[in-house]
Amino acid sequence: MKLDATDLRYISADSFRVLAAVEQGSKNHELVPLSLIAQISGARAGGVNKALGDLAKKKLVGKVQNAKYEGVRLTYGGYDFLACRTFAKRDTIYSVGNQIGTGKESDIYVVADQDGTQMVMKIQRLGRISFRSIKSKRDYLRKGQSASWMYMSRLAAIKEYAFMKVLHEHGFPVPTPIDQSRHCVIMELIDAFPLRQIAHIPSPGSLYSQLMDLIVRLARSGLIHGDFNEFNILIRDHRSEEEKDRDEENEEEREERIAREGGDFPVVVREEDMTEERKEKGVLEPVLIDFPQMVSTDHADAEYYFNRDVQCIRTFFSRRFKYESSIYPRFSSVMKDGVREFDLDVEVAASGFSKGERVILEEVSFLGFVF
Ligand code: ADP
Ligand code: MG
Repeated sequence: MKLDATDLRYISADSFRVLAAVEQGSKNHELVPLSLIAQISGARAGGVNKALGDLAKKKLVGKVQNAKYEGVRLTYGGYDFLACRTFAKRDTIYSVGNQIGTGKESDIYVVADQDGTQMVMKIQRLGRISFRSIKSKRDYLRKGQSASWMYMSRLAAIKEYAFMKVLHEHGFPVPTPIDQSRHCVIMELIDAFPLRQIAHIPSPGSLYSQLMDLIVRLARSGLIHGDFNEFNILIRDHRSEEEKDRDEENEEEREERIAREGGDFPVVVREEDMTEERKEKGVLEPVLIDFPQMVSTDHADAEYYFNRDVQCIRTFFSRRFKYESSIYPRFSSVMKDGVREFDLDVEVAASGFSKGERVILEEVSFLGFVF
């Protein structure tokens, strides 16, 4: 979906008031009646019609006639617009740039603030999911609230932001969370490629260990990523150009040595070039993204999700880098010592994401649509 940043600045105050009223009305109505829009916005009927015409032309709302009445629906474009406007008002973003990714349930844009600092805006798009099956958890929904695309997408963004914040605060390698509104999250732009796009690495064994350590550290904090795969791991390459060249030159020699002696040989970084930071973060530093499907290690199927995350990495390393290891973490032994770095339930709840909301979203995520 195209986001037109210029539209952000050019919309009349009346149109905006009416758009905000449509959003408000959408919380209880799939199709918002015109009378309700007039009531919420406080505009005269003529004013409402004119504004709706303008908004419909910009595709921010859709006019629909159902069996009973003519009403208005907020479109994804309208919801995007409202979120962007909130970010602009808070001075979080100033402009919207290129789209850099389209997931099954999200669109990723590069955005920038007034100083030109680039960030990522992730827009949740849970619209293509049928929510009928989450009816059983309706208790958690507020009175009159339907499990609409708007609600579910907003929930996913709130969850992602809450988890990213807690993880970031505890020093996990994740993008810095910056802001959240509606179905959108603004976060640090990681200047790196997904693992998926990396054909060769000089030292698969050390990256493999780093990733397994990350899975273990998450579990010790009561968390399972749930989608720990080569698309959701970005690899920051801390080698200098000179070091990369040297690695490339040495590649053949290394391959011969591995064939001869087996094992794994590290990235060529001279001992004197190993700074504390490099030692700590690794020369190839993984950064984890994509959190809406994270689950607690207390989840009934926690072991299944944990094993699936581990297996994902094993399979990828074996296929891509021909790297296989019999060393990998087991859920039972990771959980046995019972040391928790922090308590997920307490911290995430404190950040504003309730247990009820988590349950609704978990149920949707694990229906199989999200993967
Ligand atoms: P989805 O839920 O649709 O899988 P992701 O959060 O995984 O969305 O993002 C999709 C893609 O967008 C990623 O694989 C990555 O290439 C890119 N991306 C997402 N977040 C960032 C970021 N903070 N910095 C750089 N690239 C990102
Ligand atoms: Mg992803």
